[in-house]
Amino acid sequence: SFQALVTHRQEDGSIVSGVETLDEVRLPEGNVTVDVEWAGLNYKDGLCLTGGGGLVRTYPHVAGVDFAGTVRDSADDRYAKGDRVVLTGWRVGEVRWGGFAQRARVDADWLVPLPAGFTTRDAMILGTAGLTAMLAIDRLEALGVRPDHGEVLVTGAAGGVGSIAISLLHRLGYRSIALSGRPEHADALKALGAADILPRDEFLAQPDKPLESARWAAIIDNVGGKVLAKALRQVKYGGVAAAIGNAGGIGLESNVLPFILRGVTLAGIDSVMQPYAARVAAWARLDETFDRTAYGGLVEEIRLAELPLAAERILSGKIRGRTIVRLDET
Ligand code: NAP
Repeated sequence: SFQALVTHRQEDGSIVSGVETLDEVRLPEGNVTVDVEWAGLNYKDGLCLTGGGGLVRTYPHVAGVDFAGTVRDSADDRYAKGDRVVLTGWRVGEVRWGGFAQRARVDADWLVPLPAGFTTRDAMILGTAGLTAMLAIDRLEALGVRPDHGEVLVTGAAGGVGSIAISLLHRLGYRSIALSGRPEHADALKALGAADILPRDEFLAQPDKPLESARWAAIIDNVGGKVLAKALRQVKYGGVAAAIGNAGGIGLESNVLPFILRGVTLAGIDSVMQPYAARVAAWARLDETFDRTAYGGLVEEIRLAELPLAAERILSGKIRGRTIVRLDET
């Protein structure tokens, strides 16, 4: 048996989660069983643990869109007992049972072998947030962005994706500007390598124009809504905006001028359905690039029982950096 955070929908429709002891027969179908050592907390986990966004379809449910651990048994040739693996995305933790448990059973196609340099804890400090930040930077570079083109604006900077993006950009020689609604985290973001902080309210208070002074070589946007709309009007000629998230809303009111007068590209980033080869490449680049020591201060460790509260905090924009879940003891 193993411990899991099980999420139930009650008769009145409310969603509640609690730690339960489950028997192995409860695990879903799959050809690889993993002893989960660490899981991560993402914005999407906040939605899954509170019934938000209609992501979870059937209850009882085990949430957790990422986990890292050691293979316990495998019926697939690619994995053997003792292999260290990481899983992010593929809608695990949403439509399938995920990583908020000491054991998970999944399809081998969704796993990635952990790079030799990583511990399972390191892998979850990055998690979906780190993978997505890396994919966004890869995409900016594929579209021609280089460090000498100018500043990169990172929105939702104090959150998971934002703070890891700042750290990676710094290591890769980019000058990043951190847009954040929480000035109290400015020092931590500067320590990660942000060249400067742009307070969100100050940024939004500037008068809107169809096209604004060109300032950004690129944008890594985790927020959407008004923030992305305004930032797009400030992208320099030939620049690129990578759209990752919607923490500030799914809307996007814009106009075509940035695209037709400045040749700006709006590039969507999805980490969930990325094919295997792209995942392996991104994890390898994270292994080379991510500065674990510099990021250490932005990591908070919690246990399964603390997840419901952490879910409320991430949805209200109160989590700083990455929150990781320890599964070896609960
Ligand atoms: P997170 O840790 O909660 O970070 C989100 C950040 O956005 C917050 O820390 C906050 O930063 C800012 N924010 C929150 N509420 C806001 C609001 N109402 N208006 C403006 N800014 C707000 O979440 P995360 O895990 O990094 O994920 C960030 C976003 O990317 C989420 O929308 C998530 O769903 C999405 N995402 C997408 C993919 C993909 O594959 N496309 C992968 C991972 C995540 P400040 O306090 O610094 O302003």
